Amino acid sequence: MGKLMFETCFYCGQEMWSKKLCTKHQARKRFGIMKGARFARRLLYWRLASDEHLIRRVDGGTRRDNIVRACHYCNSSRGEATPEDHKVAMMALIEASEHPCQTELPQSTKGETN
Ligand SMILES: [Zn+2]
Repeated sequence: MGKLMFETCFYCGQEMWSKKLCTKHQARKRFGIMKGARFARRLLYWRLASDEHLIRRVDGGTRRDNIVRACHYCNSSRGEATPEDHKVAMMALIEASEHPCQTELPQSTKGETN
């Protein structure tokens, strides 16, 4: 298997996973989320990559370049905030170590072929 691909969230800048690019097991390993650990399922779910419409579809956002990739947590917590405001808010969470997607990446995953 080749090098694993992990996308980066538009808002929080953290790595995300998607079922197209890797398995749940690989994502768990990458993010250091142990199976059966407390909140493991939720943490994995928050890190799932998703399409985010910068301009809501109801507000006329339909063009392809209107879509960025964002983790599920950022995507689902945006509410009515503008993309700019939401990015600032998410980065503030990162700064405060309060964003659920910022577990430290294990250093040992480099060059892993699994
Ligand atoms: Zn995010």
